[in-house]
Amino acid sequence: MSPLAADLRTMLDRARRVAVFTGAGISTESGIPDFRSPGGMWARMAPIDFRDFVRSEEMRREAWRRRFAQDPVMRAAEPNRGHRAVAALVRQGKAHSVITQNIDGLHQASGVPDRQVIELHGNTTYAACLDCGERYEIDAIRATFEKDETPPVCAKCEGLVKTATISFGQAMPEGPMLRAEAETRAADLFLVLGSSLVVYPAAGFPAMAKRNGAALVIVNREPTPLDEIADLVIHGQIGDVLGGTVGVN
Ligand code: NAD
Ligand code: ZN
Repeated sequence: MSPLAADLRTMLDRARRVAVFTGAGISTESGIPDFRSPGGMWARMAPIDFRDFVRSEEMRREAWRRRFAQDPVMRAAEPNRGHRAVAALVRQGKAHSVITQNIDGLHQASGVPDRQVIELHGNTTYAACLDCGERYEIDAIRATFEKDETPPVCAKCEGLVKTATISFGQAMPEGPMLRAEAETRAADLFLVLGSSLVVYPAAGFPAMAKRNGAALVIVNREPTPLDEIADLVIHGQIGDVLGGTVGVN
């Protein structure tokens, strides 16, 4: 174990309650590209703003085309060593829940109970009506969309149907935000895994933890703007670093 990983092991051992906070970086080892790494999704296309989605049928069509183009990658993705290490921390009772910016459902797939995953940006593995909240499955939407590319509307209220994710410009989900805040305040160790920490308000949680007296640990391939306030920073692959530290393969 490297000296930094040994430091992390000691901090985990001493911690009473760990808040795990994950970003797209924990899922790259599962084959899902992140946004901001070189070659990530943003290098290829700008995200569609919520206002544009609501305003323009053409934008909705484009959003759904992109979602379906992503589908093979999303479906093939399985939890990796990093997800398994996080699930182990939850199972051991070290971590109570996982606050995630990810929309891929891989924490749940790795065995963290649904109620212990706090999704700040929603979930792309299903869709919902923006007005009444009715849930829709991606496959069913796709079957209809492929006929003439008409973007889906709700069968109950004719509201717009969108993947159950939070887009730029869309309000943050109240329940998950409150739970994430409570989890952050309850923690004495806040562990960031694979986030560039530039997307707010999500990126506000590590600083909140720090102000609240928790230790802050960041495991990320590249530097982040919060490295300077962290108690421990490890620039490495999450699977290796956390898998090795927690003893999970
Ligand atoms: P980001 O793309 O801004 O940053 C990811 C960070 O993870 C980068 O700094 C990168 O260096 C690091 N990283 C990548 N692979 C790593 C690895 N194997 N080990 C260690 N570090 C690694 O991601 P973000 O901060 O989560 O913000 C992007 C937003 O886009 C999120 O809010 C999320 O909603 C969405 N998104 C989600 C997914 C997903 O669900 N898997 C994928 C892409 C984007
Ligand atoms: Zn509806």
